[in-house]
Amino acid sequence: MSSKGAVICWFRRDLRLRDNPALTRACALASVENLRIIPLFILDDGDAGDFATGGASRWWLHHSLVSLRDNLNGQLLLRSGAAKQALSALTEELDVRAIFWNRCYEPWQIARDTELKTHFKSSGIDVQSFQASLLWEPWDIKNKQGSAYKVFTPYYRKGCLLSKQPRLPKAAPDLSDCALPEGLKQNTIDELGLLPSIPWYEQMQNEWQPGEQGASDRLTQYIESAAFAYRDQRNIPSVVGTSRLSPSLHYGELSPNQVWYAVKHAFEGREDDKHLDTYLSELGWREFSYYLLYHFPHIPSDSFNAKFDVFKWENAPEKLRAWQTGNTGIPIIDAGMRELWQTGYMHNRVRMVVGSFLVKNLRCDWRLGEAWFRDCLLDADLAANVASWQWVAGSGADAAPYFRIFNPVLQGEKFDSDGEYVKKYCPELAEVPKKFIHKPWEAPSDILKDAGVWLGTDYPHPIVDLKESREAALDAYEVVKAASNA
Ligand SMILES: Cc1cc2nc3c(=O)[nH]c(=O)nc-3n(C[C@H](O)[C@H](O)[C@H](O)COP(=O)(O)OP(=O)(O)OC[C@H]3O[C@@H](n4cnc5c(N)ncnc54)[C@H](O)[C@@H]3O)c2cc1C
Repeated sequence: MSSKGAVICWFRRDLRLRDNPALTRACALASVENLRIIPLFILDDGDAGDFATGGASRWWLHHSLVSLRDNLNGQLLLRSGAAKQALSALTEELDVRAIFWNRCYEPWQIARDTELKTHFKSSGIDVQSFQASLLWEPWDIKNKQGSAYKVFTPYYRKGCLLSKQPRLPKAAPDLSDCALPEGLKQNTIDELGLLPSIPWYEQMQNEWQPGEQGASDRLTQYIESAAFAYRDQRNIPSVVGTSRLSPSLHYGELSPNQVWYAVKHAFEGREDDKHLDTYLSELGWREFSYYLLYHFPHIPSDSFNAKFDVFKWENAPEKLRAWQTGNTGIPIIDAGMRELWQTGYMHNRVRMVVGSFLVKNLRCDWRLGEAWFRDCLLDADLAANVASWQWVAGSGADAAPYFRIFNPVLQGEKFDSDGEYVKKYCPELAEVPKKFIHKPWEAPSDILKDAGVWLGTDYPHPIVDLKESREAALDAYEVVKAASNA
């Protein structure tokens, strides 16, 4: 055992040095009490049960850990297995005086952390947790009746914005003295097995730069390009009109506080701040998702609105498969699902359209969509994914009413009017004229022939009739309506 006492900074969804309250406090304690600081990461996703990290997100984590380790000059201790065992082993190997971490909010993480706090505190170790990945703690925001908000606008406008301002970001602490004790057993990043054996991630590699520096560069890029047109462009999938910070926010490569203040600062002195307000309210939706998950921890598996439990899903495996692989014959849906598969990302507008199509036109359970997104999205995040899927399905808090069924053709024509996005991900439709790009099945055969498209061979016929499936969905939702009125 190393003779010097140690303070562990346990990294989880806060893979950064800047604005990291647990790390800052661990460094301060180490300096005052002459302790050794142990930066630690434990791969413990077995504890997440059915909601374990998906493939794309594991790819991100691998690279984000590489970046964190480099930023720590190699002084990142990696372990795998259940957190309690890994931490207990360390308390036997080292004279651990304190364990600090930043809070996580998934139900299994809250249960685990509560147990760990009690356990290690009872052994005389100073255990402290900090707020680092949310702007407002979910338990601080309550409505006038003292209960949880269920609607976004009052939650955000009255609950959050009128309460205290988010904490200002902190600088990175000085870690120049940080050195892991000699001979400490540890895993390499490769040994964590986060990368798949088949390298399907090649395109992702070209488009994304996981890690704190990549996140910071993307934030700067957003502020220098899309931020001042956000409200106008954020719905156009062929344009990079949004910040694309979601995977970084998920893994805490930067904090929402850093984003909040950096974007606000960029708008200082400008009169027209509608783009700023809209962007900040999207961060507000992220907060709301965590808020819902905290106050209603059953929502990953059950409907937020229990009346939806009576809904009869069709769950046809061949329809689900066509949706997953981008072969439904509806161009905007296929483009979205292929974007997801190829890049690990999908534009928010398209996420809403493919979600509505799966749940309403195909009548597949939203949980199947959530699971597919969880496996394929680089930004897969239990809170945001579940809240968004329930929103799309109509079963969630402040959800789109069940009778609002996106028409994918009209959505395509409105938000991808030239078909640029569709043509990028469905290149077989590249020569189809604008008039038919979102509904090739309506094109006369000579036009399709000129475009080199033979429906059923080069590109599928639609797997459902949009009008009929919409009506079938509305009929199916009548059951929910009847249950609600009973
Ligand atoms: C069916 C469905 C599933 C989704 N699953 C996820 C998910 O697993 N992980 C995830 O981070 N987002 C999810 N979203 C929300 C949203 O699509 C993404 O956050 C957004 O597209 C990320 O791109 P961006 O960073 O460019 O967003 P920007 O428009 O630049 O927004 C800035 C940040 O605000 C947050 N944000 C934006 N919109 C939302 C929203 N509707 N709900 C919660 N947070 C939001 C994100 O953290 C985002 O990075 C989902 C949306 C739908 C409709």
